[in-house]
Amino acid sequence: MSLSPTPLAAGEASTPTSWLDEIPARLAEIERAQLRRQRRVTMPGQGAQLWVDGALMLAFCSNDYLGLATHPALAQAARDASWTYGVGAGGSPMVSGHSVANAALEQALAEFVQLPRALYFYAGYATNTGIIPALVGPGDALFSDALNHACLIDGARLSGAQIHRYAHADLVALEQALAQSTQRRKLVISDAVFSMDGDVADIRALLALCERYDALLLLDDAHGFGVLGPQGRGSLAEAGLTGAQAARRVLYMATLSKAAGVAGAFVAGDATLIEWLLQKARTYTFATAAPALLANALRTSVHLIEQGDALRAQLQARVAQLRAGLLPLCNAATGWRLLDSRTPVQALVIGDNARALAAMESLRQQGLWVPAIRPPTVPAGTARLRIALSAAHTAHDVQRLVDALSEIARRR
Ligand SMILES: *Cc1c(COP(=O)(O)O)cnc(C)c1O
Repeated sequence: MSLSPTPLAAGEASTPTSWLDEIPARLAEIERAQLRRQRRVTMPGQGAQLWVDGALMLAFCSNDYLGLATHPALAQAARDASWTYGVGAGGSPMVSGHSVANAALEQALAEFVQLPRALYFYAGYATNTGIIPALVGPGDALFSDALNHACLIDGARLSGAQIHRYAHADLVALEQALAQSTQRRKLVISDAVFSMDGDVADIRALLALCERYDALLLLDDAHGFGVLGPQGRGSLAEAGLTGAQAARRVLYMATLSKAAGVAGAFVAGDATLIEWLLQKARTYTFATAAPALLANALRTSVHLIEQGDALRAQLQARVAQLRAGLLPLCNAATGWRLLDSRTPVQALVIGDNARALAAMESLRQQGLWVPAIRPPTVPAGTARLRIALSAAHTAHDVQRLVDALSEIARRR
């Protein structure tokens, strides 16, 4: 039998099917499964209001937990820096992009989280996909919580290390996997606050396991920085783990695009470990530095976070108000579940994709913007409304949402 293609008979039409021709059908599949994602065109309004596709909505979708993203002092700091530095960074931090403002921000971040040294990246996604492969590779072992953020998962895959995925927050399973591992270099990676559930990792227990099995802990505190801990210093500070001693076994990573209200991210920890990341993280070396105007705005933001106890108290009051309003709606009749969370991320699990979308749509018609989160972002069968609260929400705002959800629950 010949392996060469059968020659076309004279006059026979050639119908080559390229894989590119399958994409419309594959898109239709996504549509049928009600998994098509759509962007909306937005503009900030007053307080927690947001213009969405031209309609003014009360939004419960922003990670701007302290309401700093539109703070005039941050806008002023960005404007001031743009006169001094221009707008673009011009190069990698290794060449010419590490401005005076970027250097000052790193210093301020390290002091704020009370760790020896910090490295400022242009995005959180790039931080995790850069630092994980810098730490472990083929022949090494990674231990990853099942609910970790996509960029931790992608960083883990990119590293080529062997990945042990443990059930969410199951430290018994983690310990077993650590004990069985024969690899010498072990890295445990975990969200500090889980981005779709809102619960907080048991950081002291994770660190104790890392001590016992000579592993390093990488914590992603995207949703805890600015919100948790004394003066908003984050989850690690809340767990009482700061200073050079704690830093020996933990790398603390947080984004600056959420409570800090700007963009970018940083990783902080032991000075030698940070120097290693500076040498080895390819997403740091081979990408243009974050613009100085953002670094300057962030220095103002760190200051506002530090002074932000009143904002955090307001946020906590809204969290308590929302939970008190929603818990009575979670019963056998609705089948709804409000996940345990003391953070501004409040997940109301509806279950079915279509029902979650219908609830979102019903809220939208009442001027309330709450995103429905579906698989693959969350496990199958746990489609949910992900309610994000902010210090910019008033008690009246939260009451409107509770009333609207109560009405949806009654109609079911
Ligand atoms: C948002 C987020 C990131 C990504 O940060 P960006 O700055 O948006 O790239 C990383 N980890 C977690 C847990 C997040 O929620």
